[in-house]
Amino acid sequence: MTLDELKTGQSAIIVKIHGYGAFRKRVIEMGFTKGRKITAVLSAPLRDPVKYTLMGYEVSLRRSEAQLIEIIPINAHGTQEKIGSGEARATVEKGAMNEYEGRTHTINVALIGNPNCGKTSLFNLAAGATEHVGNYSGVTVDSKAGRCTYRNYNFNIVDLPGTYSLSTYSPEELYVRRYLKNERPDVVINVVDSSNLERNLFLTTELIDMDRPMVIALNMYDELERSNIKLDYETLGAMIGVPIVPTVSRNGKGVNDLLDAVISIFEECHTAVRHVHVTLSSDIEKSIDRLNEIIKSDDSVDKHFSHRYLAIKMLEKDKEVEEILSDTACYPRLRDVRDHELKRLEALHEDDVSAMIASEKYGFIAGALAETMDRRNFNERVTTQVIDSLVTNRYVGFPLFIFLMFIMFWATFSLGQYPQDWIEAGVTALGDLVRHIVPQGALRDLLADGIIGGVGGVIVFLPNILILYFFISLMEDTGYMSRAAFIMDSVMHKIGLHGKSFIPLVMGFGCNVPAIIASRSIESRSSRIITILINPFMSCSARLPVYVLMIGTFFSAHAALVFIGLYLLGIVMAVITARMLRRLWFKKDETPFVMELPPYRMPTMKSTLMHMWAKGYEYLKKMGGIILVGSIVVWALNYFPLKHQMTEEERIEHIAEETAQPDNQDSYLEMLGKSINPVMEPLGFTWRATVAAVAGLPAKEIVVSTLGVLYTGEENEEITETLEHRLTAPGINGKPDFTPASALSFIVFILLYSPCFATVIAIVRETGTWRYGAFSVLYNTAVAWLVAWCVYHLALLL
Ligand code: GDP
Ligand code: MG
Repeated sequence: MTLDELKTGQSAIIVKIHGYGAFRKRVIEMGFTKGRKITAVLSAPLRDPVKYTLMGYEVSLRRSEAQLIEIIPINAHGTQEKIGSGEARATVEKGAMNEYEGRTHTINVALIGNPNCGKTSLFNLAAGATEHVGNYSGVTVDSKAGRCTYRNYNFNIVDLPGTYSLSTYSPEELYVRRYLKNERPDVVINVVDSSNLERNLFLTTELIDMDRPMVIALNMYDELERSNIKLDYETLGAMIGVPIVPTVSRNGKGVNDLLDAVISIFEECHTAVRHVHVTLSSDIEKSIDRLNEIIKSDDSVDKHFSHRYLAIKMLEKDKEVEEILSDTACYPRLRDVRDHELKRLEALHEDDVSAMIASEKYGFIAGALAETMDRRNFNERVTTQVIDSLVTNRYVGFPLFIFLMFIMFWATFSLGQYPQDWIEAGVTALGDLVRHIVPQGALRDLLADGIIGGVGGVIVFLPNILILYFFISLMEDTGYMSRAAFIMDSVMHKIGLHGKSFIPLVMGFGCNVPAIIASRSIESRSSRIITILINPFMSCSARLPVYVLMIGTFFSAHAALVFIGLYLLGIVMAVITARMLRRLWFKKDETPFVMELPPYRMPTMKSTLMHMWAKGYEYLKKMGGIILVGSIVVWALNYFPLKHQMTEEERIEHIAEETAQPDNQDSYLEMLGKSINPVMEPLGFTWRATVAAVAGLPAKEIVVSTLGVLYTGEENEEITETLEHRLTAPGINGKPDFTPASALSFIVFILLYSPCFATVIAIVRETGTWRYGAFSVLYNTAVAWLVAWCVYHLALLL
């Protein structure tokens, strides 16, 4: 709890002072120290400031300042009021402090660093989590929190998206900076990739400007050692005033030392901590000093950032900092002085000031490294160069890429067939077992047809999905994914996108939801939105069951061709949509293609399997949730109102008379299907197909489970008959429900129509407006209808 939350009349013990520079120094001088008792006396009419008593004197603080002082209230004991004597009061204070000391302390830690430097690996190690690790930038797009306990301290660890700096150029940078401002982590762990120190330390200089308690995790230390570079990291740490701890977050080496360093920084007893300025050239320093003076003199300035940081960002014309400062009294003067200084500097150097500051920071880093790093025996990374000369080769690159894609899909379908057959046999056996054990009635029908028929029809595809994810994970973990983006850049450019858009699109073959979230790493907003909107055309794994069922039933002779055709059709529709959006909706934007190509890294089997399993687990969770509910709902709508149960004699009579079964009582589902069906009939759909498509709106897996429920065998049929047979069996009017032409139009429609609920929600969340979600639902459904109509009529002709 912080001091501003203390109610009038309440007392508390101070446990920690946050904040910076003059403010911090001042309040400590005034006696705000750890273990001190403080009482809130009264607040001013407008709630601000608040008067406190401390060591018998009175002091007033603004709420914004009180927020930076952490306390634990004494009233928790409920005894404070009754105690009169000084001695007794001291006992209570001591009790509260002891409670504080005895309690395990909590340290809030944030992991900050460049993309792909190993933050998530470190996070997984420390917090025992299984977050997604991949060898390309932009894997983590959200913050993830975890906790661990070490030496009686509780660590709340947050893994943040990777950033190259703390300006507000990209969403990630903005995110990390807001996090630093609003969440006030006690200690920042700045993770740096030691095989790429120069660039990684740039972010460090920004953190130093911010003056946050921090430690550097010199990660990938194994790679540094392997390349034979000697780094005197202790001296380097002393030079920049930040302790440096080598770590290998792949195997956990050094992580305990890192946590020890975090503890001693938290307890403010680390010897290497010293505030150092990243000194810039004297011209710029002069300007910074001027701004600094003004900021210092104004008490209303936000205390979350150091003055120097605010001054530098002011010079860089940083929008957010400008907004923070715009409420303060000194802002008009500050702005005038800033504009004046900018003019002076730009006239002097004929360059813009942000660029000057950046290049001087790089100069500072180069200087520090020149003194501490010995590259004489440097082994260059030949493996990566050799592989890259092949993979990104003008002639070999593309065929190799297509070959790898082919292997991926081949393995998904062919290898996946075996375990799929086993699971299918298991599901059938389970269904039979239930039919034998449970007495005839609604319960038996619910279990056998509704649940086992519905969920079982979908669960058989788990192996295919796991295999697909295994390959995607492998591409991500080795570093091939960013090469794929690299060679695809010129292709993507033709449709108005970016090489970076390629990774979310490939991920879309697994599931559109994480793929849409992964689009966050695309800097340009218009490219990002287009990538998001075309993602649902990438055929996700939930649509697989429908293809496998229909293709297996109707096109088993040309299975591979139809499969590839479907995926290509999705891609073609994505391309057309992207071009259309670019032309009609978004003006051209030219974000340069700047993407890191990380060195190839051997993936750890553990992380690849973990990654694959995490996805499989999501799939199973969906099975137990939305798919189960969907199957039961569909089953119930199909089961009720209860049809007139024919006796055996009646049935024989009907068959003898060759009359259709009495059709006077439709189930609710039939009513629904038949009422919508006129719209879908031009595509060759029967009401059952229509119902399946509608049922697939929440999640596309439900399409197959619905077919499973709809085509459950009649009493007199062979129970073991598979769904495939039932689809082609003649219906009441003598014609089968699905013909090859209508089956084709059905899968095309399922491929293209409205994305599932989860995807729509992701689209709305990521674009920030419901309009794009609505667009996606309407547009995709319209496209699906048109294309399916064309396909159906073409197929009829052939
Ligand atoms: P993030 O983007 O910063 O979260 O980085 P990740 O944790 O996703 O890791 C990026 C890549 O670096 C992955 O392929 C990891 O396996 C690899 N990696 C992480 N830490 C180390 C390390 O200490 N040594 C080596 N050799 N590789 C590492
Ligand atoms: Mg990460």
